[in-house]
Amino acid sequence: MARQFFVGGNFKMNGSNESITKIVEGLNQADLPANVQVVICPPAPYLGLAVAKNTQSTVEVGAQNVYTKASGAYTGEISPQQILDTGATWTLTGHSERRTLLKESDEFIAEKTKFALDSGIKVILCIGETLEERKSGVTLDVCARQLDAVSKIISDWKDIVIAYEPVWAIGTGLAATPEDAEETHKGIRDHLVKTIGADQAAAVRILYGGSVNGKNAPEFKDKANVDGFLVGGASLKPEFVDIIKSRL
Ligand code: PGA
Repeated sequence: MARQFFVGGNFKMNGSNESITKIVEGLNQADLPANVQVVICPPAPYLGLAVAKNTQSTVEVGAQNVYTKASGAYTGEISPQQILDTGATWTLTGHSERRTLLKESDEFIAEKTKFALDSGIKVILCIGETLEERKSGVTLDVCARQLDAVSKIISDWKDIVIAYEPVWAIGTGLAATPEDAEETHKGIRDHLVKTIGADQAAAVRILYGGSVNGKNAPEFKDKANVDGFLVGGASLKPEFVDIIKSRL
């Protein structure tokens, strides 16, 4: 089954009215391929701005985080309904920076993912192992555990995109090799066959994330299970367009 190439941009806690306007205008002016799905995730205060400025039909806007309730006394949190109200249509869940710095558990991430989907938001679900876990050979066990928390409470994966982001590759300039990424992606897909069924496992997109840039993105071209990228640092730069075009 052909899976549409997908490129996400995770701006993290970067940007201002001025710089995000510039980034979106840069994307507007680019000649983007019609068959690549793009989702940019600016910080929450700029979701509406990014939606308002975007003129590309293949580009959507997503949040970086979401809460498990629609409204109420949850100071500082943002509901899927509010995200939708800005015009954004996606959210990240489970990014390693939130798993580590904000101590988000597999179960909480699964709950967020479920509530977002139930509310009509699509989800880029991030998973991945630390350097210690990789060294001790438990990469796939960690990914399986993180995915199982989600598949335990979610049966329909059509609006989920998985981003495999090894923690040691994020922001370090040390991307996984295309071979290593492919091996892990294949392992993830094989695991999903057992948990969500062969059809859904074949359809779900698995992105690679961690130090992807304009230069290394084309190296993943022939990797059958790498269905796109989740890009951090380079999504703030003009080379983001090169990454979007890296499958041409
Ligand atoms: P990076 O971040 O591309 O800057 O390594 C990726 C991510 O954290 O999503």
